[in-house]
Amino acid sequence: MVQRFDVSSRFAAGVQFTAGQFRTGNSGRTHAIVDPATGKEVLGYELAGPADVDEAVEAAHRAWPEWAGATPGERSDAMHRWAAVLRERTEDFVYAESLQCGKPLKLSEEFDVPGSFDNVSFFAGAARQLPGVAAGEYSGDHTSYVRREPLGVIGSVAPWNYPLQMAAWKILPAVAAGNTIVLKPSELTPLTSLMFAEAACDAGIPDGVINIVTGAGADVGETLVSHPRVAMTSFTGSTAVGRRVAELATGSVKRLHLELGGKAPFVVFDDADVRAAVHGAVAGALINSGQDCTAATRAYVQRPLYEEFVGGVAELMRSVRVGDPFAPGTDLGPLISHAHRDRVAGFVERARSCATVVTGGEAPGGELAKGAYYLPTLITDAPQDSEIVQQEVFGPVLTVLPFDGDDEGIALANDTPYGLAASAWSRDVLRTGRAEREIQAGCVWINDHIPIISEMPHGGHKASGFGKDMSAYSFEEYTQLKHVMYDITGEARKDWHRTVFGDR
Ligand code: NAD
Repeated sequence: MVQRFDVSSRFAAGVQFTAGQFRTGNSGRTHAIVDPATGKEVLGYELAGPADVDEAVEAAHRAWPEWAGATPGERSDAMHRWAAVLRERTEDFVYAESLQCGKPLKLSEEFDVPGSFDNVSFFAGAARQLPGVAAGEYSGDHTSYVRREPLGVIGSVAPWNYPLQMAAWKILPAVAAGNTIVLKPSELTPLTSLMFAEAACDAGIPDGVINIVTGAGADVGETLVSHPRVAMTSFTGSTAVGRRVAELATGSVKRLHLELGGKAPFVVFDDADVRAAVHGAVAGALINSGQDCTAATRAYVQRPLYEEFVGGVAELMRSVRVGDPFAPGTDLGPLISHAHRDRVAGFVERARSCATVVTGGEAPGGELAKGAYYLPTLITDAPQDSEIVQQEVFGPVLTVLPFDGDDEGIALANDTPYGLAASAWSRDVLRTGRAEREIQAGCVWINDHIPIISEMPHGGHKASGFGKDMSAYSFEEYTQLKHVMYDITGEARKDWHRTVFGDR
C-alpha cells in the first residue's frame, strides 16, 4: 500500500523551486491542483509570474559556471547520488504522481516512477561519454579536434500527461551536459517535478542548477522561452502551442527542441497474430487513459482480420476496470480534468454523425460520475479524412478502419500531419521490414506498441516535432560543438596565404 502524505504541508512554502528553495509565486493569481478522480482540491497555490521567471533564470545563470566547470566525472557522481536519493523516495513519487494525474497506482509504480529514475542513472553514465570525431591532421598543416560544450541556461516547458517523465526527459540531458535549467511544468501537475528538483539539491547538485517555475503558459511559458538569457528552448506539448513556442524561440535565435503531438497508426497485416494485435491495441490505446502522445489511436486492419479484430478489441475494452486510481485492481483512471474529459467526449459526439461507436462513448455513472472518467471507446466506419481519425483526441478512444493491399495500409498510416510513433503487426519479416522503412514516424514498433527505454531516442517526424528525448542523441542536443584548429607548421607565411598575397 502506497504511503500517502499531506500535500498542503509538504508544499506549504510554495510550488516554485528557485536556487534550492521552495517559494511562492508572485503573479497575484492562484490556481488549484484538483484530484481528477474526485474533483476535490488537492492544493491551492499562487502561480508564478514573469518576475519569478526572471529570478529563476538569474539563479540558473549564476549556477552555470560552477556546474559547467565540474568535470564530467563530478557531474556523473552527483547524478548517481541523485538517483539513490530518488529511489529512497519512490513511494512519495508514486503517490504524488497518481494523485495529481489520476493514474492507476500500478502505472505510476511500474512505469512512470522507475522509468524516470532509470533515466537519471542513464544520464549519470552519459555525462562521461562525449562523442565526437577523433583529433587528427585533416588539413595536413593543423591538428583539428572538437570540443563539446554546454549551451548555458535551458528553458523547458512540459505537459501534464507524464509530469515526472517529462521533467526527467528535459532536465537530465541538459544537466548531464553541464547546462543549468529552468523548467515550467504544467500548472495542473507540478508536484513531482518539484520533488525531483528538491532531491537533486539534497543529493548535492548545486542550488540553481535545476529550477522550477509553476505558472500559466501564456505568461510564464512565453516569458521563459523568449528570455534573453535562455540559450535553448526545449518544449513538449501540443503541436499548436509548439508552433507559438517556435516563433518565440526563433525570434530570439535560440536552439529549439520540440516534442509535439501524435496520432499513432497501428497497422495489422493479414498474417498477424490477431490475439496479440487485439491485446496490443487495447493496451496501446488505453495506457494512461489514452493521454499518451504515442498511444495507438488509428488501427488499420487488413480485411480478412477486420471483423475478428473489432470483436476482440470491443470485448477486451469492456473488461477493463475503470475506477479509483488508488483502489487495487483499477486498470483505467480518470482523464486529467473535467474540461479535458468534455473535450474528449466532444470528439466522440461529433464522430457519431459519420461513424459507429461500438463500445464506450460515454462517462460512467454511479460513484465515478464526480470524477473526470470516460469509458474505453471503440469507433468504426469513420472516414479517413474525418476529425476523429485525423486529430489528436488524447483520450481512451481507438478508431479502426479496414484496408486491402499492403500499399494502402502504409499509405493510410502516413496520412495525417503527425509522425511520432507507429506499430506494424505481421509474422512476415519482409512486410515488417517494409513498414519500418516506409512509415513516417520517430519510432516504429513491430508486434508491440508503447514500450520505451532510456538508451533509445524518442522524438517525432513531421508535425510531431524534432529533437530527441532520452538516449545519447538527446545528450548531444544539449551540447554545442566547437572546432579547434591548431597550426602545426610554425610558419609565419602559411601555404594557403598565397591565395591572398603572392605566388607559390
Ligand atoms: P499544451 O501544449 O497545451 O501545454 C504544454 C505546456 O505548454 C504546458 O506547460 C503549458 O502551460 C505550456 N504552454 C501553453 N501555452 C504556452 C505558450 N503560449 N508558450 C509557452 N508555453 C505554453 O499540451 P498539454 O495539453 O499540456 O499536453 C498534451 C500534449 O502534449 C499532447 O499534444 C501530447 O501529444 C503532447 N505530448 C508530446 C510528447 C512527445 O514526446 N512528443 C510527450 C507528451 C505529451
